[in-house]
Amino acid sequence: MNRPEIILAPGPTPIPPEVFLAQGSPLVYHRGPGFGDLMRDVAGRLKVLYRTERADVLLMTSSGTGGLESAIQNLFSPGDEVFVPLAGFFADRWKRLAEAHGLVVRSIEYEWGRRIVPDEVAAALAEHPVKAVLLTQSETSTGVIQPVEELARVANEAGAMVVVDAVSSLGAVPFEFDAWGIDVAVGGSQKALSASPGIAFVAITERAWAAHETATLPRFYFDWSTYRRFAELKDPENPWTPAISVMQGLQAALELYFQDGLDAALLRHRTLSRAVKQGIEALGLDLFGEGLEDNWTVTAIRAPEGLDADTISDRIRADFGCILAPGQGPLKGTVFRIGHFGYFSELDIIRGLAALEMTLERLGYPVKRGSAVAAAEGVFQETA
Ligand SMILES: *Cc1c(COP(=O)(O)O)cnc(C)c1O
Repeated sequence: MNRPEIILAPGPTPIPPEVFLAQGSPLVYHRGPGFGDLMRDVAGRLKVLYRTERADVLLMTSSGTGGLESAIQNLFSPGDEVFVPLAGFFADRWKRLAEAHGLVVRSIEYEWGRRIVPDEVAAALAEHPVKAVLLTQSETSTGVIQPVEELARVANEAGAMVVVDAVSSLGAVPFEFDAWGIDVAVGGSQKALSASPGIAFVAITERAWAAHETATLPRFYFDWSTYRRFAELKDPENPWTPAISVMQGLQAALELYFQDGLDAALLRHRTLSRAVKQGIEALGLDLFGEGLEDNWTVTAIRAPEGLDADTISDRIRADFGCILAPGQGPLKGTVFRIGHFGYFSELDIIRGLAALEMTLERLGYPVKRGSAVAAAEGVFQETA
């Protein structure tokens, strides 16, 4: 099936019809009042989502990784030292990005699936101070939500800036930019907000702007000063031609997201996560990763003994058009993942679990039909 009916992957996430309609409508010309209103509205809503009053939020046409790259290019000079606690694929992306730009990366390496231990980071920073700590809130490869609040505290105590990849967590789990003392946080359009891929957003504090003033790494397309200058026009603009359609869709997506308020959106993510996890456990499969109660974005699941995890994700896609995510790195073949952040309904989860039950049965795993679905229904009924 080339057009999957059910996406249960951690980005891009299912796009609601309102968003498709908005991005399928005529373009708002990107210089002038129409686009200015659009940018003001989107940036304003994102500030609420970040829980910040003190940060500037810049919008860039790129995938999430472009937003991360912009942080490296705008904050640092060659040879600057940063600390990256490693516990999965996306923490490793920070390391590779920093090294590609000539930074010196110090780290503690954790086994994938572990939570980073703030005291251990504090000890490492006390022994060897760095300019910044680069964190990943939702380690999408393992499903683990890292303790960013505590990690930001120890980084601040050590005098380091705090830069957070919140691409797969912003809007799905609690995040407090101002209260936690974050300096820079990057998000993306195609994750919890359920818009199309193509826009990255970056929140930036005064301390980060000060670092930007003296940073000497080469930058052009992603130069934050240029974005700020255009964002401060009477009718805000992007310096370059932005992904206008995606921006129109993102505005509609934010409208839907805020429909019932931020707290309701977070609670929805918690409920969907619990339903998936209880459904999986009802099938007798083992969940992977620490801190399951907090891991509302992605559920990582160990394939049963004797079954390759990739066979499960391949087969469910071939038979039902249902997209799950395979294991990455050392988890390839032993773990598969269900993404459940974004504009999912209860029935999306039920359909996915039903497809998984049938797939596992076809692959010879003993399934009590309906058991995962029943467990998920139990969670939904309790919280209704
Ligand atoms: C999806 C994701 C990104 C960004 O990936 P892009 O493909 O560049 O949008 C970055 N960090 C995390 C944790 C992610 O889940």
